[in-house]
Amino acid sequence: MEKFNYLIVGSGLFGSTFAYCAKQAGARSLVIDKRPQLGGNVYCENTEGINVHKYGAHIFHTNNKQVWDFVNSIVEFNRYTNSPVANYKGKLYNLPFNMNTFYQMWGTRTPAEAEAKIAEQKAEAIATLNGREPSNLEEQALTLVGKDIFEKLIKDYTEKQWGRDCKNLPAFIIKRLPIRMVYDNNYFNDKYQGIPIGGYNKLIEGLLKGIETHTGVDFFTEYKDNWRDIADKLVYTGAIDEYFGYKLGKLDWRTVSFKTRIEDTPNYQGNAVVNYTSHDQPYTRIIEHKHFEMFGQSVYDNPKTVISEEYSTEYKEEMEPYYPINDKRNNELAEKYRQLTTYEKDVIFGGRLGQYKYFDMAPVIEQVMEMFEKK
Ligand code: FAD
Repeated sequence: MEKFNYLIVGSGLFGSTFAYCAKQAGARSLVIDKRPQLGGNVYCENTEGINVHKYGAHIFHTNNKQVWDFVNSIVEFNRYTNSPVANYKGKLYNLPFNMNTFYQMWGTRTPAEAEAKIAEQKAEAIATLNGREPSNLEEQALTLVGKDIFEKLIKDYTEKQWGRDCKNLPAFIIKRLPIRMVYDNNYFNDKYQGIPIGGYNKLIEGLLKGIETHTGVDFFTEYKDNWRDIADKLVYTGAIDEYFGYKLGKLDWRTVSFKTRIEDTPNYQGNAVVNYTSHDQPYTRIIEHKHFEMFGQSVYDNPKTVISEEYSTEYKEEMEPYYPINDKRNNELAEKYRQLTTYEKDVIFGGRLGQYKYFDMAPVIEQVMEMFEKK
């Protein structure tokens, strides 16, 4: 049989976009994935007529018109706008921090009133430092937004996310805490955002239309030693350390575990995302999946709903590797692996696992588009 131009390991957004662009350029690809389905982390499972984001809630957002036009040429996107709500001990606050949040926190009505309140609280925190730089995340956050916002909306949530006290986390994790002096709950600053109409699987189906795919196939057991027999080039989007047999050591990850259940009500929390910002609940967020694709009264067309509690978890063998750990050991180790990739002839390392870097969806697509533009 004629050889493929590319063997693509991983059918996430990197692999699928690559396969699509290669096809447009006249090349043939075989896409394999070790999971039983295509799509990587954007894959959705249909439960009770609702697209459930099985590997974590995904909201597409970008400032890049070319990327936005590209994804919309595959499937139209809806008008979903991310506006999470925070629940602190039963009291609700809008996010990101904006005039609505400040009104809920202090009753301030004008930007001048809110600015004065924040300035007063920041000044208190800065005074306690006696001229030295913040030495941990807690001190850093207090000097940026003051005590009330830190204690009610940042402290416990961050501790749940990292599994560590804010006093024991480095200050650099929070460089800035954007504050909006307008009544605007739109979480993202990007020009474009939304969810594919019909769900992310439609996007993946569109990208992989007419391309040969095999699921449930692990590169290391099936193709590692013989891929050159079937393809000219390899596009590898699996874990970079696994590719090299972990010969320099294993990279660490943080992961999230989900407890997903069906609720016998059409509308559980009235919003897609509610953050739980106190230690009273062990989970960080509850996602109600239907709100990504059903708006207003149409939420009630389906009498059931599906929710996922999210628990930030230390990564162990067999778990999904989600977030690279941005510390000295892992940064240095990842860099050494990246150096090794330069000796791998005819192999392209891509995506978040292949580069050990966190990327949102749009930058992943942008990277692939740029690769083909250069070609
Ligand atoms: P993946 O989607 O992970 O795909 C890699 C694929 O490779 C997987 O399917 C895997 O099974 C396969 N694979 C790995 N090893 C092998 C092997 N040995 N053999 C065969 N197949 C293999 N981005 C946003 O823009 N907005 C969001 O709201 C957002 N939310 C996120 C929430 C979470 C919890 C996480 C972890 C990420 C989120 N992202 C979000 C980022 C987004 O998921 C990534 O940008 C995107 O998934 C990158 O695609 P990828 O192809 O690199 O990786």
